[in-house]
Amino acid sequence: MHDPSSRHQPHDPPDYGLRFCPKCAGPLEGRKEAEGEPPFPTCAACGFIYYFDPKLAAGVIPRIGDRIGLIRRGIEPGYGLWTFPAGYVNRGEKVEEAAVRETFEESCLVVRLERLIGVYSYTGRPVVIVVYAGEVTGGELGCGSEALEARSFAPQEIPWEELAFPSVRDGLMDFTLEPRR
Ligand SMILES: [Zn+2]
Repeated sequence: MHDPSSRHQPHDPPDYGLRFCPKCAGPLEGRKEAEGEPPFPTCAACGFIYYFDPKLAAGVIPRIGDRIGLIRRGIEPGYGLWTFPAGYVNRGEKVEEAAVRETFEESCLVVRLERLIGVYSYTGRPVVIVVYAGEVTGGELGCGSEALEARSFAPQEIPWEELAFPSVRDGLMDFTLEPRR
C-alpha cells in the first residue's frame, strides 16, 4: 500500500541528503541548471544529474449511492484523521488503474471511475495528486491494513475538521460542489 505523504518530508533539503552518484559512486554536489531553480545533485565524476521529479499519487472519492466512503488513517502522517483512499502511481501504471487499485487496497471497495475531480499540488510539497469520483460497484467498505476505521458519510456529515491533508479537503470540497450525474 502506498501513502502519498509518508515517503517525503514536506520540505526536502536542496541536496535531498544524497552523497553518492547511483551510476558511478562519485561524489554528488549541488548544481543549478538555471537561475531560480533548486540545485540538482550532480555527479562531479561522470556528470550524472539526479533529477527529483514530483511524486504522482491518485485517489478516489468512492460514491455509495448518495454517501461517500472515507477511511481513518492508522499511520502517520495524519494518524486518526480521515481521507479518501489514495496512493502512489507506479511507474508505467495508468493513473486511472492506480486510483482503482489503491481504492481497493485501502478501503476494500471496487469502483468504476466516473469523472475527474481535480489535480492538486502545493508549493514546497513533492506530491501531486489526481482525484477522481468513483461509483462503488462491489466490495464492502472495510479497513485496509493501515486504517483504523472505515465508514460512509452523507455530504453534510463530512468531518471537515478532521481531514488528513489539504488535498483531501480540497478534493472533497470540489466534489461536493459539483452536481451529481
Ligand atoms: Zn557519476
